[in-house]
Amino acid sequence: MNLDLAPADLAFRDEVRAFLQASLTPELRVAARRATSVFMDKTYSLAWQRILHARGWAAPSWPVEYGGPGWSDAQRHIFAAECARAGAPGLAPMGLRMVGPVIMRYGTDEQKAFYLPRILSGEDYWCQGYSEPGAGSDLASLQLAATADGPDYVLTGSKIWTTHAQHANRMFCLVRTRRDGKPQAGITFLLLDMATPGVSVRPIITLAGDHEVNQVFFDQARVPIANRLGEENAGWTVAKYLLEFERGGGGAAGLRVALERLVTMAAAEASGTGGRALDEPPFRARLAAAAVALDAAEMTELRVLAALAVGQAPGPVSSMMKTQTTELMQRLDELALEALGVYAAVDQPAARAPNANIEIVGPEHGLVTTARYLNDRAASIYGGSNEIQRDIMARLVLGL
Ligand SMILES: Cc1cc2nc3c(=O)[nH]c(=O)nc-3n(C[C@H](O)[C@H](O)[C@H](O)COP(=O)(O)OP(=O)(O)OC[C@H]3O[C@@H](n4cnc5c(N)ncnc54)[C@H](O)[C@@H]3O)c2cc1C
Repeated sequence: MNLDLAPADLAFRDEVRAFLQASLTPELRVAARRATSVFMDKTYSLAWQRILHARGWAAPSWPVEYGGPGWSDAQRHIFAAECARAGAPGLAPMGLRMVGPVIMRYGTDEQKAFYLPRILSGEDYWCQGYSEPGAGSDLASLQLAATADGPDYVLTGSKIWTTHAQHANRMFCLVRTRRDGKPQAGITFLLLDMATPGVSVRPIITLAGDHEVNQVFFDQARVPIANRLGEENAGWTVAKYLLEFERGGGGAAGLRVALERLVTMAAAEASGTGGRALDEPPFRARLAAAAVALDAAEMTELRVLAALAVGQAPGPVSSMMKTQTTELMQRLDELALEALGVYAAVDQPAARAPNANIEIVGPEHGLVTTARYLNDRAASIYGGSNEIQRDIMARLVLGL
């Protein structure tokens, strides 16, 4: 694999760098630096999305006909890497990366014309209603009932772990429309308005002290049948197609930044440990092993980048990438806690707010490292746990 950039790609990289230099405000940079989750604070992710949208760069992998920039695979990789390097906020994936491509594939012309521009501009903010209290890994056992009544489905039941449901004005959702036969054959995919009467959101506060996930309740909530994506009882196929995008790619550039941050922390005198972590041979060995694993993850990502263009779902290799990047993320978090020593104990959710007016005691990293460590524990669970990903790899990649 030749990883050298062609002259045209180098010119593109310089164009992206100049744009980032000019467009990333200090406020956006601070917000991104203090983010403790892959899900940025909505205020900042949307502010950044609007800036990108104005430039036509909000959805790098969307086809040109729907508002994508028409970039090559190499350009998309360069753009992701440069954004991470410059410390740009991440964009919420539920619209742009998840339901958007699915609407392109399964939506009617009316649905595409209505939803896609609103996803691109950030006018609509989506959440994902897949999991339920009794249905996570075994997603097909979901029970949220949708009963047809005139022009509507009437929904009763609940969804759980719904990321940013408190911010979202729309949800894509799996509902049960048939109870006999195979469980997978009775599932329907719906797009719904969170302001629908009968829909309510209850917060779940995580170990890191953040309000990121929720339980969403449906009490006789009426959703127009016209909001269905695909055929009734054919939602399982739509749901699986979406999951490949949820699990697929784009993580290596962010991990490279996390590794660089880790090296900076390890090179500093860590209070309470009596020295620099970087001077400890066992620490150095683990750091080196993580750096090699990151190279491997990046190579995997480059190999499958082409498949991530919309229209070609990445397939089971997305399970490989999800497992590789989330486990590496957790390894880097663990090393970061060690490198910081007692500074890692500084975990003040209020102090992490981008607009907080505080005197930072100790390295700034201490404010976010513990919260990141705690938040990232969830990365090997959400999007389908890594045990489930290994099962998919065993069956579909290894043919076991
Ligand atoms: C922070 C966070 C955000 C989330 N956001 C969303 C969201 O926005 N929308 C949404 O719909 N869901 C969301 N989820 C839910 C997530 O998809 C589920 O938590 C996940 O699929 C696991 O399901 P579960 O929690 O019910 O665990 P379970 O399915 O009960 O699994 C428990 C344990 O058993 C293991 N296990 C289960 N079955 C098998 C098997 N067959 N083989 C081997 N091991 C197995 C699992 O790996 C896990 O370790 C989120 C979860 C978290 C933690």
